[in-house]
Formats: sequence, C-alpha cells, structure tokens
Amino acid sequence: MPTLNQLNAIRTFYNSGVTKSYGFRKQQLEKLRDIVIAHEQGIYDALFIDLKKSPEECWITENGFLLAEINNSIKKLETWMRPKKVTTNLMNLPSKSYIYSEPLGVVLIISPWNYPFQLLLTPLIGAIAAGNCVVLKSSEFAPATAAIIQKIISLSFEEKYVSITNEDGAVIIPQMMNNFSFDHVFYTGSTQVGKIIYEMAAKNLVPVTLELGGKSPCVVEKEVNAKVAARRIVMTKFSNAGQMCVAPDYVLVHSSVKEAFVQELKNAINEFYGPDPSVNENFGKIINEKQFDRLCQYLQEGTVIHGGKTDKNKLYIEPTLLQDVTLDAKVMSDEIFGPILPVISFTEMKEALDIIEQHKNPLAFYVFTSNKQKEEEWLQAVAFGGGCVNNAALHLTNHHLPFGGRGFSGTGSYHGKFSFDTFSHKKAVMKTPVWFDPAMKYPPMKGKMKLLKWLIR
Ligand code: NAD
Repeated sequence: MPTLNQLNAIRTFYNSGVTKSYGFRKQQLEKLRDIVIAHEQGIYDALFIDLKKSPEECWITENGFLLAEINNSIKKLETWMRPKKVTTNLMNLPSKSYIYSEPLGVVLIISPWNYPFQLLLTPLIGAIAAGNCVVLKSSEFAPATAAIIQKIISLSFEEKYVSITNEDGAVIIPQMMNNFSFDHVFYTGSTQVGKIIYEMAAKNLVPVTLELGGKSPCVVEKEVNAKVAARRIVMTKFSNAGQMCVAPDYVLVHSSVKEAFVQELKNAINEFYGPDPSVNENFGKIINEKQFDRLCQYLQEGTVIHGGKTDKNKLYIEPTLLQDVTLDAKVMSDEIFGPILPVISFTEMKEALDIIEQHKNPLAFYVFTSNKQKEEEWLQAVAFGGGCVNNAALHLTNHHLPFGGRGFSGTGSYHGKFSFDTFSHKKAVMKTPVWFDPAMKYPPMKGKMKLLKWLIR
C-alpha cells in the first residue's frame, strides 16, 4: 500500500498546483492513451487469463471503451475547464456570475473484478481531466489484469501523482481511509461493501461516488418483437458470462408471449454460442471457485429449461434459463452476477411491479415493447439508475449519458463530462464592478421595503 509518507507526498504534490494546468492534464491523458495502445496485446492476454474474454469483447468493454473516454476527454478538456458564465439575478446586477470547476484534491478510486481494466481506469480519466492526484485500488481477484494495469500506471505517471495498490481491500482500504483524509472516494463494487466505504467516509465527511450492484429487471411486454428482444437480452446477459453489473438479472415476460419468447431465447443462445459454449471463444468463465459454487446453488432453485451444464475445472457454467423460481429463493433475492437467467411470467403490470419493488432502485431497468404508452408507463413506474427501451446495457456505452445508480444501487454518476463534473468542485463566483455602488444597497434599510420587494421576488 502507499505508506502514510507516500500519501502525504501525493498531498504535497497536489498542493504544489502542478496538476491544475490544462497543459499538464492534457499531457497526462495523452501519455496514458499512448501507453494503453502500446500494451494492447498484454491487456488481451491478462483479461483472457482472468475472465477468458476475447479481444473483441475487450475492445468493446475494456480497452477500446477506455480509449474512447480518453479521446473524448482530450478533445473536450479545454471547454470543460473554462469557467461557465451563468445568468445573474436582478438583485445582483450588474454583477457577473460564473461556475469554476476546481479539482477536489487527492482522490481514491476502488474497483471490482468483473471489468477490472475499464472500471479502474475510466474514473481515472475523469480524475486526471479534473486536475486531481489519485490513489488507485485494483481488484485482487483479477491478478493478471492488476499486473498489467500496475505496469501501465508506473510507465505513465510519477508515484506522487498517481499511485496504485492491489492488496486485500478489506485490509488496505480501512488502513488508508482511517489514516489519511482523501478529498473524494469513488467506489465501484457490491452494495454490501459500498455501505462499509460510505460509513468510513462519513467519519471524515469525505464525499463519495458509489457505483453499486443489485438486481436489474427486464420486462418483456405482450406487444413485442420477441426475436429482437431475445437476441438483445441474450447478448448482454451472457456477455462476460453474466458477470456484468447492468446485465438483465431476471426477465418478467407477459404470459401471452412467454412461449414464443423463450423459444427465441434458446435460438439466440444456440446461434451466438453454438452447441457447446464451453469451447466457444466468445463465452467467458466464472472468476473463481467461490463465485462458481455460489452460482451452482441457484441451478437447484428452479426448472432448467435450457443449459445447466457446469465444469468446475474450467469454471464454466453454461448459459442457462430457469423457470418456476419462487420469489423467496436465493436466485431471486441475491444479485445473480452469472450466466443464469430466471424467466417469470406476469399478466398484470402490477404483478410485475410488485416483484421489482422487492429490490428497490435497480441499477438498470429494461423494457421491451412496441407500445409507446406502455413504454412510458414503465419508465415512470420504476425508480432506476439508467436503462433502455428495446435494448439492454448499451446505455452505458454512450458517454453523453450519465452512468450511475440511485439509493441501493449507488450515488453519483460518471462517463464523459459527467466524470469531469464528479471529480470537480463547482465553485460559485460572483464578480461585482465597483463603478455602480448605490446607497440604497446599504443600511439603513428602513423605508426600502417596496424596492426590496421589487428586487427580490
Ligand atoms: P466487492 O465489493 O467485493 O469489491 C470491490 C472492491 O472493494 C475490491 O477492490 C475489493 O478489494 C474492495 N473490498 C472488498 N471488501 C472490502 C472491505 N471490507 N472494505 C473495503 N474494501 C473492500 O465487489 P466485487 O465482487 O469485486 O464486484 C461485484 C459487485 O460489483 C457486484 O455487486 C456488481 O454489481 C458491482 N459492480 C457495479 C458496477 C457499477 O458500475 N455500478 C460495475 C461493476 C460491478
């Protein structure tokens, strides 16, 4: 871990003001971009070892995703940094008002293992763009990726600017947070650990961004293109073997289309992953035995209508469809985070809503329907972080949209300009000229009520 002395050295470097200039920030982003590009093959190798990801999947969800964020930040940085002029109210005229974006200081970024490259480095882009110094904590459960990240970071940055550790989070994070006052903590991971981080941060009133998990529902209405819906759900549910925070956790399908829809799900699985997904290069593996064992228990909690094969040696679980699950089963109370998809039918919207309400504030919500009115009813009825209509998970790939949860699925958001804002303090500044200084602004105030009522209304 960075020792207390190293953390203090980072603070001293931040206080020197070097990280605040446009030139410095741009140069750091460019350096990181070049080094990430130079290590493309190493990144693919590491992600294959940890999660059996294919290079194409990596490009979409890991290194390509990151490079798009870096390129966008470099392009927009100067505009983002510029103080933003805003309207001044009548009472304060002829003053002028501005919002300055100021770096927060020394920030801690903590990431999970499922997208171990991108989920650590995408927030870093925002933190650098906003002018901060950074301590990174990669996930100890994706060691090959942690090693290549460590190399990239040490080649890109001085330790007093961006430092990285990969030690056991339960030990090192309390050590750092209890002994050093960060200016912000950006945490991605489980809701359970998110609560621990929030509590530690609260002791020193350290602001946090929490990107958490949960059960993201997927509703398939009766007026639907079942084939397209099934293909889009299968693509995102089984990507990274279902270990995706915004993967559809379970499907609520209108009973009138259930049979046809389930058939389309099976067709899509067969088409995308072939007769034996264990040998398909586009189908990933479970991260470790602990997660594998947890997931295998869920297979006993319903009727397997497709898939269900497992191989512990390969940490392989076949893309699986489950039906006849009960709502109190673990598969319907835990976040699944694996390639198992419960399919539950409903007839009235209220029935489906009651199930969704069991897990408040899903990180993502998806509705598949060709009925515009139904679409709007669903969007209004569920309080979720972000989501899609007739699609799944892809909202997070558009950096013009904020990505984040609400309540149990998180607080705050990032991607694109939202990352820059997350890592900036918005400093309100009013500039008042001295040439206009009327006596009416000063005491005594008696007799000025009429004027005040005109000015302040
Ligand atoms: P996790 O919460 O177990 O670990 C995340 C990080 O926290 C790791 O770096 C770990 O070292 C650290 N950590 C673990 N225990 C800790 C403790 N007691 N104190 C301090 N730090 C601790 O999560 P995970 O298993 O790595 O990831 C899976 C979870 O992350 C899922 O719930 C998933 O939905 C969520 N997730 C959310 C997003 C998002 O963007 N919202 C993205 C990916 C994953």
